[in-house]
Formats: sequence, C-alpha cells, structure tokens
Amino acid sequence: MKNLYLIANWKMTLNRKESVSLASRIKSFDLKNNIKLEVAPTNLYLSEIQNIFKDSNIRVISQNFDHVSSGSFTGGICLDQLREIGITKTILGHSERRSKFNETDYIVNQKLESVLNADFEVIFCFDSYKQIPFKIISDNLNDISKLTLAYEPTWAIGTGKTASISHIEEIHSKVNKTLQKLSLRSIPLLYGGSVNPENSNEILNTDNVDGVLVGGASTNLELLSGIINSI
Ligand code: PEP
Repeated sequence: MKNLYLIANWKMTLNRKESVSLASRIKSFDLKNNIKLEVAPTNLYLSEIQNIFKDSNIRVISQNFDHVSSGSFTGGICLDQLREIGITKTILGHSERRSKFNETDYIVNQKLESVLNADFEVIFCFDSYKQIPFKIISDNLNDISKLTLAYEPTWAIGTGKTASISHIEEIHSKVNKTLQKLSLRSIPLLYGGSVNPENSNEILNTDNVDGVLVGGASTNLELLSGIINSI
C-alpha cells in the first residue's frame, strides 16, 4: 500500500481555543498506517499544537517561512527558529502567499533554493506546470525525501470548485514525466483545491496523486474525519 499524505492547512482561520480543541480531537483518530497526516496551524500556535501531538504519528508543520537564519527581518520567521521548536517541514508558495502577501515567483523560488539547502523539508505549491522551477529543484535537491510538490489551482482553492479528475490526471502526469526524466519521480505529488469527503476517495485513487492538501475542510472535525475515512 502506498503512503498517502493528508496535509491539513489551517491557514489563519482558527483561534487558539479552536486550534487546541481540534488538535486534541484529531489526536484520537485511528489512522491507517499508510496515511501520513500533517497539520499546519497558525505559526503562533505551533508549539502548543506540537505538544498535543507529541506522542502520536501526526506531524506538525509550518505554513510558511521567511528566511533560513535569524537577522533583521521584522515580522519574519526563519527555519532555524522553527527547528528550535521541533518543526522540520514547511509549506511554501501557497497561492494565498503569492496573491495576498505579494510573494512573486522570484521570491518563492529563492526561498525554495534556500530551504532545499537547509536541513528542512518543504511542500512546494504550484498553480500550473510552468510555475515549477525544475532547474532549481534538480540543481539544489540533494536528498529527494526533502521535497513534496502540491498542485493547487488557484481557482479551486476555497471556492468549492474542485478540479476534475481528468484535469488532475493531465497535470500530474505531465509533472510526473518531467520528474521521471530528472530521476526524481519518488517526490510525492499532492493535489489541493476544495477537497472534501465526497471527492477525496476518487482524487486519492487517481494515478500520480500521492495525497491531498486540504484547507477549509481540514478545520472541521467531521469533514476531516470524513476525508480520512474515505481512504
Ligand atoms: C489550501 O489551503 O491549500 C486549500 C486547498 O484550501 P481548500 O481546501 O479550502 O480549497
């Protein structure tokens, strides 16, 4: 049975009480061995949520980072600081970071290059095939297990408009072919965009889909458990 990744991106939607309460209930989920559940809470609550999941198989990851190491970057968070509190994986290039925080392709790709050269894992989100910086990846990825790619069409994020299976297949197979050419096919390839308990099973059974990145539905206990139970 292949591993299936389920990334719960809580964005900035839950307050502290809601985050703690949801994490405490998720902790009691009975997960199949092949399901790799990773939760990305607001950075403010990382330590607290990490503490709740400390004796479980559920991993806590960051939604973003700014730099590799500390320096004069007011408001920023760096990988060294995240590692200090036990976080060793981050999402990067989410479409909301790109559109609402003005992180251009150039900025995101620079951050990708730096995280690939740090002792850290990363889930790189892309909106289209051409947004994947294959050259940066092949030049800087020294350990294949450090990178995950997530196809997240912007029009499907938070809109309830899920991409069709044929569309997901088309993009994932195109990415997969290029990864194969670069001998990088073992990089997990996720889909994200309005995943819910009704569509999760079909999406997760699609060729070249190794998991899902879930926003809205992951902040609701019933919907998240519905997705997990659909697998
Ligand atoms: C996301 O935040 O990456 C996402 C896919 O959101 P949603 O599931 O709400 O569309």
